[in-house]
Amino acid sequence: MKGTRDLLPAETGLWQRVEDEARRVFAAYNFREIRTPILEPTFLFARSVGADTDIVTKEMYTFEDRDNESLTLRPEATASVVRAYIEHGMFNQGGIQKLYYLGPMFRRERPQKGRYRQFYQIGAEVLGSDHPTIDAEFLEMLVLLLGRVGLTEYNLLLNSVGCPKCRAEYLKVLRQELERVKEKMCGDCQRRAGTNPLRVLDCKVEADQSIIEKLPRILEHLCPECRQHFDCVTGELQQRGIPYQITPRLVRGLDYYTRTTFEMTSNVLGAQNAFLGGGRYDGLAEILGGPPTPGFGVAIGEDRLLLAVQQAAGLSAGDALDVFVAWMGDAAHEPATQLLRALRREGLRVESNYEPAKLKKSLGVANRLGARFAVIIGEGELASGRFQLKDMTAGQQEEVEPARVAAVVKEKLQKG
Ligand code: AMP
Repeated sequence: MKGTRDLLPAETGLWQRVEDEARRVFAAYNFREIRTPILEPTFLFARSVGADTDIVTKEMYTFEDRDNESLTLRPEATASVVRAYIEHGMFNQGGIQKLYYLGPMFRRERPQKGRYRQFYQIGAEVLGSDHPTIDAEFLEMLVLLLGRVGLTEYNLLLNSVGCPKCRAEYLKVLRQELERVKEKMCGDCQRRAGTNPLRVLDCKVEADQSIIEKLPRILEHLCPECRQHFDCVTGELQQRGIPYQITPRLVRGLDYYTRTTFEMTSNVLGAQNAFLGGGRYDGLAEILGGPPTPGFGVAIGEDRLLLAVQQAAGLSAGDALDVFVAWMGDAAHEPATQLLRALRREGLRVESNYEPAKLKKSLGVANRLGARFAVIIGEGELASGRFQLKDMTAGQQEEVEPARVAAVVKEKLQKG
């Protein structure tokens, strides 16, 4: 189906490793996993993402269920996480909740490289504090994760979209200016100039870009509290040695953001160069009927992160075969079975021939599977009680007692 794809074993190894690193880094910052349904009532997204956003007006997979309820395949998961937080009274647990998720999202966009209709996000959310240290520490966590997956070249774009108070003031100024210039802009911008002027800043139409560049900037209209918050975030980023670029147009395509917004982009990705985005959403819980609860989060576009990691030759799949056990003749079957079991119990990735086979054939299979080592068990080995361990890259061979094979292989693998 258009915009969807199968992820085959040649790719899934790397996906798993990236996800493992994400889980490890999230755990280090005390985040715990939340799993929410892929199907949600449509109003959840209309209310949170915003009724006049691209996602809600053009991109959602929405259908009527048999009992006439309108359902939507989630286009993003922050709304679901906040819904769950409210529904389960997680605010009653006191303190800060740190949650993460992984999974597919659905948007009916025009498919191209790095843009799919079913795509995957790895996301994390902090609920319950508006402290600027949360923002900075969160970005530090992302920097650590990117390092772990081998991505070092990227840009952190940063902005503040203020709070409802200062945004209202800014929107007045923006509307006035848009009245002057909107005639020259695209149809969507002309409409949004009246309905949701902030969204004009996300417009991707080429001809509008030079006009948008000259529009008033929200950073110059922040109230003193929002200004101070932003200055604290940038101050803490500097303390932590995390470079960033202030990007006044970065308002993100969803209505729920307040104060800090950010994106990370990579030059190796082409047109769809943002591989993650997020920010603060201090008003979202209230919009969804919960108690006032500040929040901060990220959604990492896993498909694009993977593309960037591959381009940068970062983390690799790590699913190469450790050992191929090549046995010959019926008498070798049982000792081979015992060895296979012992190696697998040690966590090694191991394969073997299921039927007696000639050595040459088995070594050919071992080569094709990319095995680092082969263990050879034939008549001679059975007689001597020592197996041959062959290094498939170096070509060297040595005799090893059956009970020591796992330890010797592990030692050699560690040496690399
Ligand atoms: P958003 O939820 O729109 O803030 O997007 C967060 C991240 O998800 C983006 O930076 C992209 O990396 C990724 N993303 C969004 N839409 C798509 C899509 N249609 N296909 C692939 N990745 C996407």
